[in-house]
Amino acid sequence: MHRRTALALTLATSVLTGCASAGGGGAGGTTYLEGARLILGDGRVIENGALLIEGERIRQVGPASAVRAPADAVVVDLTGMTVIPALIDAHAHLGYEGYTGWGADYYSRDNLIEHLERYAYYGFGAVFSAGTDPDDLALGLQRDQELRRIGGARLLFAAGMAPPGQGPNNQFLGHALAVASRADMTVLWGVSSPDEARRAVRQIAAEGIEFVKIWVDDRGGTQSKMHPLVYQAAADEARGRGVQVVVHQQRADDMPGLLEAGVSGFLHGRIGPELDETLARSIRRANAFVVPNLGLGELRWEPVSEDPFLQEAVSDSVVERLRSAYRERLSSGPPPSDPQRERELSEGFMRLVDAGVDVILGTDAGAVPDHFFGYTGHRELEIFVRLGMTPMQAIMAATSRPADLLGLGDMGTLSSGKSADFVILRDNPLDDIRNTRSIEDVYLRGVEQPRALLRRSWPAGS
Ligand SMILES: [Zn+2]
Repeated sequence: MHRRTALALTLATSVLTGCASAGGGGAGGTTYLEGARLILGDGRVIENGALLIEGERIRQVGPASAVRAPADAVVVDLTGMTVIPALIDAHAHLGYEGYTGWGADYYSRDNLIEHLERYAYYGFGAVFSAGTDPDDLALGLQRDQELRRIGGARLLFAAGMAPPGQGPNNQFLGHALAVASRADMTVLWGVSSPDEARRAVRQIAAEGIEFVKIWVDDRGGTQSKMHPLVYQAAADEARGRGVQVVVHQQRADDMPGLLEAGVSGFLHGRIGPELDETLARSIRRANAFVVPNLGLGELRWEPVSEDPFLQEAVSDSVVERLRSAYRERLSSGPPPSDPQRERELSEGFMRLVDAGVDVILGTDAGAVPDHFFGYTGHRELEIFVRLGMTPMQAIMAATSRPADLLGLGDMGTLSSGKSADFVILRDNPLDDIRNTRSIEDVYLRGVEQPRALLRRSWPAGS
């Protein structure tokens, strides 16, 4: 039996083959992690627990006294630390963020891989890219992850669907269309009738894509909004084929019709007085989820450039650029602070939570410049707790709940048989949700992620 501290284990695994590839190597051997507080992801906690990892899987979880270390296991003492399941971001847009800039010019397979690695770095085991990737490219990446040729957080993605030539916000739309024409692949499926929607969904299902993301938004009159008959047809066709439809909806009053049609989730909260108790109850009854995406609007009013947790993964020049952009925003007026809006937000948020709706973590990272991968997820958890969730509820909203809802059956909790995807924290996030930042180590599929090496491999990294 070899006894090591967690620190000594850093970089001990076999993943250090290619510089930027944190997944080439596989998991090997048996590891016994003992002494940590285990937050299982389903609401339970085990103090002084033990996790037995065999290859890519968790073989056993329990109190240290009940889980024995096999003779050949590497034993890691995690006394004083806390382990949580790897986090899941249920709404992002990979590929367009270049850190030094943003847009179609940055979109490439290599950049997608970097973004998956950035998620892994920040303790995320999976990320959902919502409708802005070339289908074939994303399918190819999923295949390569299945074959363990590349690592990082697991990629989930949706085929995007909107009226022809419409969809993402107007800035993003042009870039998505540019990527599509350059790659000669489909990024946005343009549909203008129920028949076209059905045909597209059949094709998407046949390609093996698990999700369709639809946009139901006229972007303030600048785009045409998908007609209810069109989304009803898409959802109906998807239902029989095991394809989930998730939606970007413009307003709360779009939600009842979408629920009726059978969508699985809303990628924007639209939280406010309009999202009342009746609507909350119908969302619950339909088992639909809500991704509030609150950081997207809020973080631009915070000096994120001064946050060491962001600084550690970007270069000084990026920090400087963020700093001056923030100063410029401030010079045009102070950050909005509206106690009434905050009260409404908190009441609306808790109305959903109290109705039993699955409010899950998503960030929309990458949809606009400088809303960075991984970092924003931790910030979103802080917002969840500020608005009234307990830290435990917030952790579940980022682990077991999205895993169940997005079909990640082998993720989301620390339990035997699941993929060994977890984060070792120095401090207890149940005391303060900001302690999800105190990352000591990240394991994905049983492989310790080489965080220091990853950071150095990013062109815009420090
Ligand atoms: Zn989005």
